Amino acid sequence: MRSAAVMTGPLQFAKVLLTHLHSDHITDLNDIITMRWAMSPVENALSVIGPVGTSGVVARTLAMLTDDIGYRLEHHDDLSWQPPVDVEEVSDGVVYEADGVRIIAAPTDHSPVRPTVGYRVEHEGKVVTIAGDTIPCEGLDRLCLGADVYVQTVIRRSLIEQIPAPRLQDILDYHSDLAQAGATASRAGVGTLVLTHLVPAPWPGTESEWIDEASEHYSGRIVVANDLMAIEV
Ligand SMILES: [Zn+2]
Ligand SMILES: [Zn+2]
Repeated sequence: MRSAAVMTGPLQFAKVLLTHLHSDHITDLNDIITMRWAMSPVENALSVIGPVGTSGVVARTLAMLTDDIGYRLEHHDDLSWQPPVDVEEVSDGVVYEADGVRIIAAPTDHSPVRPTVGYRVEHEGKVVTIAGDTIPCEGLDRLCLGADVYVQTVIRRSLIEQIPAPRLQDILDYHSDLAQAGATASRAGVGTLVLTHLVPAPWPGTESEWIDEASEHYSGRIVVANDLMAIEV
């Protein structure tokens, strides 16, 4: 999962955390907004946390949904309100603290995409860092320090460099490759490195090659993520 969401009950997200506003990282947002609104028996705002620019994207997403919202309001007699969304734009520091959960944001480096952020989620002494797309940087190191789990979007440089397409070569300079993800994990002393958003998509059965490449720079546990995967710490 490239953005992060905290579930509080069946089909309900308490919060959506966006790392940045690239389309492949927010492609599900319109459906989360729509389904939460359409399935909530009472008005129940969705909380979205993201970098500066998130308010505009949410406003334009709601504008895109105008027709759909109209269909549902006309169809459901007991649905009489517009989709409520609370947006908080964040950059650095504590962005959420309640019920023993603390979420900290810090700037990351996905230039020329700016601004971007990562998150550190702390609960009962355990820490999960959600990096998003970023190259190694000071903010990422802060988020990762001593984390039990570090989730990093990664590219496999050795494969991309073999593909003679300029636009693919362009992505090399703003994502962590496997060596960089491993080095960040090692420098921060994290417990488990989770690889996600693998580019180019691995041929089935070759995931272990990705782990092997990262393990040249990090001696801890490395996992290739699947949707809804649970990780024991
Ligand atoms: Zn991106
Ligand atoms: Zn991406």
